[in-house]
Amino acid sequence: MRLAVPAERENGESRIAATPETVRKYIALGAKVAVETGAGLGASISDEDFRAAGAEVAPLPEVVRGAQIVLGVQAPDPALLAGAADGAWIVAMLDPFARRERVDAYAAAGFEALAMEFMPRITRAQSMDVLSSQSNLSGYKAVIEAANLYGRAFPLMMTAAGTVSAARVFVMGVGVAGLQAIATARRLGAQVSATDVRSATKEQILSLGAKPVFVESVAGIEGEGSGGYATEMSPEYQQAQAELVSAHIAKQDIVITTALIPGRAAPRLVSDAQVASMKPGSVIFDLAVAQGGNVEGALADQVVERHGVKIMGFANTPARLPADASALYARNLYNFLSAFWDKEAGKPVLDTEIGDAVRLTQGGKVVSERLLI
Ligand code: NAD
Repeated sequence: MRLAVPAERENGESRIAATPETVRKYIALGAKVAVETGAGLGASISDEDFRAAGAEVAPLPEVVRGAQIVLGVQAPDPALLAGAADGAWIVAMLDPFARRERVDAYAAAGFEALAMEFMPRITRAQSMDVLSSQSNLSGYKAVIEAANLYGRAFPLMMTAAGTVSAARVFVMGVGVAGLQAIATARRLGAQVSATDVRSATKEQILSLGAKPVFVESVAGIEGEGSGGYATEMSPEYQQAQAELVSAHIAKQDIVITTALIPGRAAPRLVSDAQVASMKPGSVIFDLAVAQGGNVEGALADQVVERHGVKIMGFANTPARLPADASALYARNLYNFLSAFWDKEAGKPVLDTEIGDAVRLTQGGKVVSERLLI
């Protein structure tokens, strides 16, 4: 069993899909691991570190030659995978809806493409959940970036020269990223409030010492929602939510938005008029900017100033913490492959529940139900 780890080639991608720690673990399972020269540098991992862990470090064509599994962070260019074994697995965050042409190319090449973001949200797959591991770090980073851009302090400070009041932070969308954003803002001493459409998040917000701000006049999503995910809300709900946000947002210094709906553009939560109601010097960090944005006027990787308010968001937030993001992502991949490792076959053999959920292509065809409808 030969595993290949090519360098990431997408703009701004600094993560890598394996670390010396996971290389050692794959080798302990009986696999050989080949890493492209320089692939770990963005995440502060040298070729020497990979060699010391037992990996072969070589240029791409040698790394890919004969590989039965190719590990990636983002979808690797199919043209660069020539020479991989017949039916090789491509294991990465393949972004299947936006990058359909790559999925079709994997099928045409006879590869079995496995999309890690399609991992089902079941208890036994929690340690394989790449969306959670990366969102958690993104929620932290969003608060740190917003704090950095804010011209005031977060905590209450009583000084001889007078009092500095605590920043008010409002977190919109309380999934994995939102929960970490609340916790980070609280640690920095801010007064935090938060909102979501799923009622189960109310208790989570309270347990982190923040104040829940919820639409009460129209029913939201009961409990966790399906698989922990939200759906698009009714026009009545959206209207009630807009009114609620308008009343609350004008008093906030920092807004962190994280709302996502799987397979759809991010819901619009903050309008330009609502931005205009905020105090000059306020900061909004839109974590959903790469999925269309929760905030009107937000642009990826830019600080946009509107009505004296700074709006920002990154196209790829976890890549701004490449060492930790790679360490957690690489463990997610190892947890996935090792859980299904068949000692006799000397390779992983997937079960139906997880295999069918993540598999996009097989036997020359696209097989994922989510792509066939
Ligand atoms: P996500 O990234 O899909 O969405 C972020 C948040 O935005 C969600 O909480 C969602 O409800 C919210 N949202 C969507 N539309 C909104 C709107 N119009 N207004 C306000 N908020 C809106 O979600 P996520 O972070 O991936 O996780 C969601 C849930 O799944 C969490 O409760 C998490 O605990 C659960 N989860 C379970 C597992 C598991 O069991 N294996 C793994 C990961 C996450």
